[in-house]
Amino acid sequence: MRIVLVGPPGAGKGTQAAYLAKNLSIPHISTGDLFRANISQGTDLGKQARSYMDKGQLVPDEVTNAMAEDRMSQADAAGGFLLDGFPRNVGQAEALDEMLKSKGVALDAVLDLEVPEDEVVKRIAGRRICRNDSSHVFHVAYNQPETEGVCDICGGELYQRDDDNEETVRTRLEVYHTQTEPIIDYYREQGLVVTIPALGKVTEVTERAMAALKSDEG
Ligand code: ADP
Ligand code: AMP
Repeated sequence: MRIVLVGPPGAGKGTQAAYLAKNLSIPHISTGDLFRANISQGTDLGKQARSYMDKGQLVPDEVTNAMAEDRMSQADAAGGFLLDGFPRNVGQAEALDEMLKSKGVALDAVLDLEVPEDEVVKRIAGRRICRNDSSHVFHVAYNQPETEGVCDICGGELYQRDDDNEETVRTRLEVYHTQTEPIIDYYREQGLVVTIPALGKVTEVTERAMAALKSDEG
């Protein structure tokens, strides 16, 4: 399956993607995680991306589309993938359509995680991620690691993302409403959007998403 996860920052895309990708045996591709990995490795791409990420703005499409295409072209993504955080504007959605068309494939579904703004603010404020791998995500109150400050998955140090501060979050939410939300209409016209209420336990949200994908298939 080829799936796009969309939703405001802090909606739980990365958290859900980890479970959904495992259940569906497809790779989880997060452009945010790819940028953070590049930053921690000190690559040129990471240096380019960092100034935008620190301000809560989108990294330019040219850079992002090339990175996403490169990742989607790897062997493990040949049979499907779960995109998290990409596309993030209509230009990227159009570029993705072109990429898929050139490979003779198409998206199966766009899962829109719906969470009220006051909840995403709380989720972001308590988010802690792993130094080794930013797809290892916890929350100080809602999804606590067994040992405070230590990643359950790999034992890495947990820390608060630089861009999870109040000012940057405000910008990221604004960017979401102005630039990312329009892709929901773009995909609605293609009949691909399934809205998933994303309040409640992580496992409940995963069940809703899996059920929606199953009924979408049938
Ligand atoms: P996104 O990838 O959409 O930015 P994350 O998956 O990183 O969001 O989740 C944001 C924060 O909310 C994390 O700290 C995560 O542990 C927490 N979280 C995710 N899903 C839920 C949920 N259903 N209920 C409460 N907290 C959640
Ligand atoms: P995320 O991890 O999805 O919250 O993304 C963190 C930051 O990475 C965003 O605020 C952007 O600066 C950048 N980013 C991630 N994905 C994209 C994308 N598809 N297009 C542009 N910038 C992105």
